[in-house]
Amino acid sequence: MNKAESAALELLFAERGWTATAEAEHADLVVINTCSVRITAENRAWGRIAHYAALKKRRPFALVVTGCMAERLKREMRERQPAIDYVVGTFQKQAFGLVLDAAASGKRLDEVEESPAYAFASSYYEPGGFRSFLPIMHGCENFCTYCIVPYVRGREVSRDPGTIIAELAELEDRGIREVTLLGQNVSSYRWKEEGAELDFPALLERVAGFLEKRGKGGIRWIRFLTSHPKDFDSRTMDLIASHPLFCRHVHLVAQHGSNRILAAMNRKYTREAYLSLVDELKARVPGVTVSSDILMGFPGETENDVEDTLDLMRRAAYVYSYTYHYNPRSGTPAATMPDQVPDAVKKERLARVIALQRELSRESMKALVGSEVEVLVEDVSKKRADELLGRTQQDMMVVFPGPSSRVGSFARVRLSGLRGNTFRAVEVP
Ligand code: SF4
Repeated sequence: MNKAESAALELLFAERGWTATAEAEHADLVVINTCSVRITAENRAWGRIAHYAALKKRRPFALVVTGCMAERLKREMRERQPAIDYVVGTFQKQAFGLVLDAAASGKRLDEVEESPAYAFASSYYEPGGFRSFLPIMHGCENFCTYCIVPYVRGREVSRDPGTIIAELAELEDRGIREVTLLGQNVSSYRWKEEGAELDFPALLERVAGFLEKRGKGGIRWIRFLTSHPKDFDSRTMDLIASHPLFCRHVHLVAQHGSNRILAAMNRKYTREAYLSLVDELKARVPGVTVSSDILMGFPGETENDVEDTLDLMRRAAYVYSYTYHYNPRSGTPAATMPDQVPDAVKKERLARVIALQRELSRESMKALVGSEVEVLVEDVSKKRADELLGRTQQDMMVVFPGPSSRVGSFARVRLSGLRGNTFRAVEVP
C-alpha cells in the first residue's frame, strides 16, 4: 500500500513541477513515507529521520514525514525530532499540495488539515513501469488484537468502481502489463450503486469484462492482495478458475494454526475452516498456489500451538510465507495480554517455521520442474547480465537466458531445474 501511495505522491509532485532526485542529499524537500505495522519499520524510519535531521544542520530543506507512523504519533513526532517540518497523517493527504506549495515558496504552513474521510488519489501509476498497484479499498475493521492498522488507517473505505475502471484504462494505455488490486482486505470490498451492492467478486467480473470488451490486450495479468479468510469465497475462486486474466495465486493469510491462538488474535476463523477453504480453492482452481503470513510467539502460545501451526503449514502446502515473530504494538489489546513469550523462545519457534517453509517451497517447486509456464520478465538477473528474471502467475521466480530488451514482456519458458527458491529455465518458442 505504501508503495502505491508513494507513486501517487510522486505524481502529485510532478504535477506541481517537482522532479525526483537520485541523491536525496541534493533535495529541496525530503518525504519519508512510514509504516507502523512492525516496530522494526518504525525504528528504521526514526533512523532515516535522524539522518536527514543531521543533514539539515549543513543545508536547509523541508523534511516531511507521512504514512501510518505520522498518523499514529502526530505532533509527538515533531516534539521528539524538531527538525521535521511537516507531519502528514493518513487523513491529511489531501493537504499535501498545500505543503508542497508552502515548501516551494519558502513559507511555513502551521497546521495541516485533517480530511473527514480517506481520499483515494486519482492515479497510482509509477512512470516507466510495466506492473502497477491499483488500490481498491483502504483501512481495516477486523481489529486483530496484535495489529495497529485499524487505528492508523481507519475504517474500511471502498473505492468508486468508476474510478477503478478509469485508472485501469489509463494504466493499459501507458503500457502496464500486470495490475495488482490492492487493499488491507480486498475481499471485503463493497460499493453501493443504484440500490445494489457491488462486492469483490462482482468487481473482479466488471474488471475482466471491461478489459475484454476493450480488447487492447495490454493488461494480461491481474493479481489481488490481501485476502482475509473470513471473506474469501467460492465465487472469487470460480472467477480465478474461469478467467485467464486472474493469476493463479492467492495470498490467503492464516497467521497461526492453533484455534486457541486464532481466537485470541480475533482472526474470526478456525484452523478447520481455513484448511477447508484452502482445499476448496485448490479443487476449484487447478494449479493455484497459496501463500500466507505466519506470526509466531503470540502471548500465551505453547509448544502444542506451535505444532498446530507447523501442521497447518504442511497441509496448506504454502508456496511461500512471510514469517515474523510477535512484537507488542502499544495501544493494541495483545500488548497487555498475560503470558508474553520470551524473545529467545519466539526466535527459536520462528526459526522452525522458516525451516519448514523452506522445505515446503522447495517441494512445491520441485513438482513443477519439467513443465512449461508463462512468465512476465521483471528484470535482468542480478548475478548475470545475459540472464533475465521473470515471475510466473503462481508467484514463483524464474531465471533464464535472454536480452535485457525483453524486460516488461511475457515469455514462455520450460522449467529445467532449481537454484534455491528460483527456477532455472529456457525459453521455448
Ligand atoms: S486483517 Fe487483521 S492483521 Fe490484517 S490489517 Fe486488518 S487488523 Fe491488521
